[in-house]
Amino acid sequence: MMSEALTSLALGRRPEGRTLVTASWVVGHKDGSHRLLRNGEVVFENGEILFVGHRFPGEVARRIDFGNALISPGLIDLDALSDLDTTILGIDNHPGWAKGRVWPRSYVEAGPYEMYSQEELAFQKRFAFGQLLLNGITTAAPIASLFYREWGETVAEFDAAADAAGELGLRVYLSPAYRAGGMVLEEPGRMVPVFDEERGFKGLSDAIAYIGRQNGRHGDLVRGMLAPDRVETSTLALLQRTDAAARDLDCKFRLHMAQGAMEVDTVRALHGSTAPVWLAKAGLLSDRLIAPHATNATEEDLVLYAANGVSIVHCPLVSARGGSTLNSFSSCRKRGINIAMGTDTTPADMLMNLLVGLITCRINDRASDQVRSVDLYDAATLGGARALGRSDIGHLSPGARADIAVFDLDDTVMAPSIDPITTLVTGGSGKVTRAVFVDGRVSMLSRKVAGIDMDKARVQAQAQYDRLIAKYPERSWANPPVSEIFPPSYPIEVDANG
Ligand SMILES: [Zn+2]
Repeated sequence: MMSEALTSLALGRRPEGRTLVTASWVVGHKDGSHRLLRNGEVVFENGEILFVGHRFPGEVARRIDFGNALISPGLIDLDALSDLDTTILGIDNHPGWAKGRVWPRSYVEAGPYEMYSQEELAFQKRFAFGQLLLNGITTAAPIASLFYREWGETVAEFDAAADAAGELGLRVYLSPAYRAGGMVLEEPGRMVPVFDEERGFKGLSDAIAYIGRQNGRHGDLVRGMLAPDRVETSTLALLQRTDAAARDLDCKFRLHMAQGAMEVDTVRALHGSTAPVWLAKAGLLSDRLIAPHATNATEEDLVLYAANGVSIVHCPLVSARGGSTLNSFSSCRKRGINIAMGTDTTPADMLMNLLVGLITCRINDRASDQVRSVDLYDAATLGGARALGRSDIGHLSPGARADIAVFDLDDTVMAPSIDPITTLVTGGSGKVTRAVFVDGRVSMLSRKVAGIDMDKARVQAQAQYDRLIAKYPERSWANPPVSEIFPPSYPIEVDANG
């Protein structure tokens, strides 16, 4: 049942004066780690947390009791799904090179083009941001596929993304992804990297200018992060300039590394080592680097990550679905590597990722006692904040930003619980997210997201996705029809008279 104070909250607004929220559980914070406060209270005003504890002594403008729920720091997603996911198309359709996931030579020669209009590119980010908020994610560093792009991401779509983040109320780390090369399919199963370094430099300079212009906008919800796309399609000069720019801009850069067999083989052929070893030799491993996914990392790679303060972004759902895992989450923690979490694919559900992360870690460890639910939850809160170099998000403490997610514990799909963190992680579904505050503003309440009608947007997303799929034959080897690229699960029967 919704309290009167809760229904008085206006979506998309910061409530006036002090707001006190309470529930059966609050995640507090002390001496560097989270605490569980039974029937705790959180008080915030103007985007900042004033109090976390019991029996707030001051006056408040409103008091909202969420009942049997967990008041949690908002979740931090550093490989956040930000498009209409295309990796899902490959889930039952293999191999990737035959299914439009590597550009065939014929498509490159015809001249790659943007498969979406600027409006469609802007829309899909706004829709994805809404999905992140529905799942209790309050901070996102977006990731999207470049397979359907002419080359890199554009400044125009990221200007629109910054505005969408401001209007919906999502904390974001943005700049257009750029690259100095791409993989081209020369014949079935044979992929080679093709480089255009000048295009990479141009993308980097656009990203630097973008960050200079957008950093701090929308009440500081928007900040910059450089995003060179994939290590195998980067050149050393591009990465050196990226690292120098990150230092100048005082921001992080994210680079996918040690991710898959194609990357490992390509980097070894080009540079004679794994990607982390290649970067270490050039002095490019540091705490400025945020590196998804480490699923193919060697022992030596992980030693280098630990020694140089590199953060891993762990995205267990997309990895495990593709047949790989971080081996292992618990051993990386024991090495002292900071681990953040990412959704990276659909559904953009961080709680589901935490469950898959728990399961895959235990399979890798061949033991059930090396990792606990709370370790995954720490990664999605404290680990993400640490990767970003922020001490004011990822935990609920006086002086921190009021980025808060409220998860229902008595939803009828949830098991009876004794511990709220274990219950949420093993429940594995962000659908129990009841409310989200970002910087003290109401961004999501009872499945409604500020600044977007998600029901209407879902209809629009389907139509846009259908149009994209219709274009897949152009960039699949030998141009088969869509029905052959993505055959149905069962034969389809239609009404002959329909
Ligand atoms: Zn990724």
